[in-house]
Amino acid sequence: MKILVLNSGSSSIKFKLYDFPSRELLLAGSIERIGEADSSLRLKGRNLELDERVALADHRRALESLEEIFKKSSLLDSFEELGAVGHRVVHGGEDFEESVLIDEEVMGAIKRNVSLAPLHNPANIEGIEVIGSLSPSTPQVAVFDTAFHQTMPPEAYIYALEIELYEKYGIRRYGFHGSSHSFVCKRASEMAGMDSASFDTITLHLGNGASVCAIKGGKSIETSMGFTPLEGLVMGSRSGDIDPAIIFHLYRELGMSLQEIERLLNRRSGLKGLCGENDMREIELAAASGDERALAAIDIFVHRIVKYIGAYFVLLGGADAIVFTGGIGENSSYIRARVCERLEALGVRFDSELNERGRGDFLFSTKDSALRLYTVHTDEESVIAEDTYRIVSLAESMNPTP
Ligand code: AMP
Repeated sequence: MKILVLNSGSSSIKFKLYDFPSRELLLAGSIERIGEADSSLRLKGRNLELDERVALADHRRALESLEEIFKKSSLLDSFEELGAVGHRVVHGGEDFEESVLIDEEVMGAIKRNVSLAPLHNPANIEGIEVIGSLSPSTPQVAVFDTAFHQTMPPEAYIYALEIELYEKYGIRRYGFHGSSHSFVCKRASEMAGMDSASFDTITLHLGNGASVCAIKGGKSIETSMGFTPLEGLVMGSRSGDIDPAIIFHLYRELGMSLQEIERLLNRRSGLKGLCGENDMREIELAAASGDERALAAIDIFVHRIVKYIGAYFVLLGGADAIVFTGGIGENSSYIRARVCERLEALGVRFDSELNERGRGDFLFSTKDSALRLYTVHTDEESVIAEDTYRIVSLAESMNPTP
């Protein structure tokens, strides 16, 4: 069964095509700048590599082009041949605790949640609707960024605002990166040889977007992103936690518009705001040559992570492991070392050589460390593909086609 995974954004669509049950990745690619005259369509497969510039007016045209490429390369005659399509859907609100087969009711709920993710859910919906019209009989599955965190207790997800704001308008903490946190936690529990139901861990997803999650027995009990992915850790260009009164100050005293402030907090803050660069590789190089802003940006980035780890360790009542993932978590031995050397009070000890030499998924704590330290490669698309396969196979076994 071929499964197409789509991450449909407002002006881009990322995709991966898998073959199940072998789980072979047949191709991966992206369509960018949809709606502009020079949209790009890039993809790479075993015997196929493409990098085209074409005008793709909208998501429908973009997905039709993809279908044509599949046809030309003899991968599929049409989308009708797909076993299923799995979609990344950013916001499931309080409606979804897990991935689901998409039907009218599910679409209604995803649409209701548009107000919670106005930048993301409409584009996700568009991807689902276009596939629905190009290939009406193909089952589609929604995998939500928020679903994994629906197990958080109310004291973790309710803000200390007027309670009606939660009750009437759903203003609460939701958390994101759920597929990644759940995937790396499961993988680390396998590596530890422990049952995930009794495995307590702190997972650090450190990429351009960054979040930390406290996971007790496989269930999220607290995470650093909140109502939106702006809360929490210092990110590539997002501020993470700030005093909300800064927003009023910027508006009143500096005359900034709300739109400018929103842009500032999302696009011009975080590492980029602190040192002019959001690529951690560049920041590390600049820091190594003594650039003071780069050094300070790393200090602030690490400080925030360590602060969250301390808090989550206490919330969990102790933990078995800390797991690093995401572009920075997986690749930067320097940042891992900077974080772990601050965790002595928790009994954390790490092996510098293992930390530096490790590749792929690996353990880098010493035997006498109170917590195990892992680096695990996250793969959100494969989580979406797995969920899609599981849900579609289950649906088929319950309703076998005659
Ligand atoms: P992601 O959003 O998960 O793709 O992660 C992107 C971030 O990972 C960027 O800040 C990159 O600079 C960072 N990154 C990727 N490779 C490395 C590396 N070898 N060392 C440090 N940071 C890295």
